[in-house]
Amino acid sequence: MTASHLREEVKNRVREASDIVQVIGEYVELKKAGSRLTGLCPFHAEKTPSFSVNPQGQFFHCFGCGESGDVFSFLMKYNRLTFPEALKEVARRYQIDLPEPKLSDEDRKRIRERDVLYRVNEEAAAIYQQYLAQSPVAEKARAYLSDRGVSADMMHSFRLGYAPDPSDAGWTFITSGLQRLRLPIADIERAGLAVRNDRGGWYDRFRDRVLFPILDMTGRVVAFGGRILGDGQPKYMNSPETPVFDKSRLLFGLYQHRDGIRACRRAIVVEGNFDLLLLAAHGFDNVVAPLGTALTSHHVRSLRGYCDEVVLLFDGDSAGLKAAMRSIPFFLAEQVDARVALLPPEHDPDSLVREQGADGIHRLVDGSAPLAEFAYDYLVKQHGMTLEGKNRIALELQEIVAAASDPMQRSLMTAHFSEMLGIPRAQFAEGMQRQGKGVRESSRPARLSIAQLPRKQRQLVDFLVYYPEFLDELLAGGLEEVVAADPVSEIITCLRQLAEEGIPSPDRLLSMLPEQSSERAYVAELLIAGGQVNEDGGVQEARLMLDELLQWLRAEKKQKEGAALMQCINEAQRTGDHDLLMKLLRQKQEMGKNT
Ligand SMILES: [Zn+2]
Repeated sequence: MTASHLREEVKNRVREASDIVQVIGEYVELKKAGSRLTGLCPFHAEKTPSFSVNPQGQFFHCFGCGESGDVFSFLMKYNRLTFPEALKEVARRYQIDLPEPKLSDEDRKRIRERDVLYRVNEEAAAIYQQYLAQSPVAEKARAYLSDRGVSADMMHSFRLGYAPDPSDAGWTFITSGLQRLRLPIADIERAGLAVRNDRGGWYDRFRDRVLFPILDMTGRVVAFGGRILGDGQPKYMNSPETPVFDKSRLLFGLYQHRDGIRACRRAIVVEGNFDLLLLAAHGFDNVVAPLGTALTSHHVRSLRGYCDEVVLLFDGDSAGLKAAMRSIPFFLAEQVDARVALLPPEHDPDSLVREQGADGIHRLVDGSAPLAEFAYDYLVKQHGMTLEGKNRIALELQEIVAAASDPMQRSLMTAHFSEMLGIPRAQFAEGMQRQGKGVRESSRPARLSIAQLPRKQRQLVDFLVYYPEFLDELLAGGLEEVVAADPVSEIITCLRQLAEEGIPSPDRLLSMLPEQSSERAYVAELLIAGGQVNEDGGVQEARLMLDELLQWLRAEKKQKEGAALMQCINEAQRTGDHDLLMKLLRQKQEMGKNT
């Protein structure tokens, strides 16, 4: 068995053991619609579901943006994994042992580098956690947490830890601890836990801080966030970005709170991870926090898979206001409803929840303003309603409206804002067009090319997709001579390869076609629409269809040959090649007899 056969076999084994509905359902809210499931696409902005999962075929397809594939391509795309990583992840979930994969040296190096970062972070989390739970020196950290209502259960479920003060445990508490586990110092540094000093030695990045392990969406520790005990600076410190930690994509708390968010269809975004913890201590299980960055469109998109509405619970100071304003375009572009709840001055979520309890937060969240209104009020406060002020407000609002991806939403907002400002709608819209230039590019791929083929050729493709086992007969019938269009050749090539590797099946064909290709989109749409794949009892019908297609191929082939012959005859006449002309005419006669 060759390496590629083996790889294919392992892949199929894992795929067959897995359930794509279950895996995707972790990230996307899916509802049953006939034989398939639909939901909001996690790969493009939309309000009505065009993302489908087909349980029979075990693949997904989005009619909006054309993304499609099997369980592996979903995980690769969603979590930005390599194929071997996605395979490993699915195998891990379904407890399948994988043989050592055959990888290129580069892949192997990359995976090793990431694996060791996961390991370093995991071991560090365990050391910090144990230290917080047991060390006498960590007593002040435990007291700090329990004073704020963080129970031992929560410390456990968030895997909270403590990085001790150097005066208690030295400057290399974690660095040495990890080195004792034979983890190379270079990797400890790469994970961001050790920092090199100017004398060539090392010291710990996190000192005298409560630490929160930051988990990716598969539950692995990828980084840490630390809050200082007391009033030192900086208040918050996070691990630097690494190959396994991308701040612009990860939200703290999303892994732990995903079920809570899903249950109430609403997520609350706070600014700091400690705020999150304290709200969680008061029973809020739907809170997330960015990790020392502003919200990004990736953040918004990752929330969309879990909820209908996002509430920004930000400080009422100017930094909080600006942060809320900056995030507006992302919510509009991703078509996620958002509201803004500003904390009273002098309060952060921590102090408010301690003073007023959970009710105080609930009141604030329930009374929050929709994003558009918030933006309007903010700008009015900023610029005033003088003529000059109105102009500035209009300019900034136009920019916000232009970011909205839904035309209906744009026109509603245009109507709303122009009325509020007392400006004619057309004038507002015109300013927007100037601003909106290049704001959004279409996420739709090029139109389907198979769909543009003549009807009969399309029928042939459809047939091949459902009944790949008849490929040989169609090839013998002249398939390639008759249909030379690129998309068809692409499908034939894939089917041939599949036939060599075993039994070709529609879903395997799908995952073989190039990502984002129109062929793949076509096949996915076909399979989704058809629902059933290789239904039993369809064999006889398939035979009939095959005969019809073969007949058509024969006729087409003949016609093509006839046309080619006529061209040669004309050419021979033109050049006056009498002998050749006679020969060709005889051929033509022969052909006619056989019809
Ligand atoms: Zn999509």
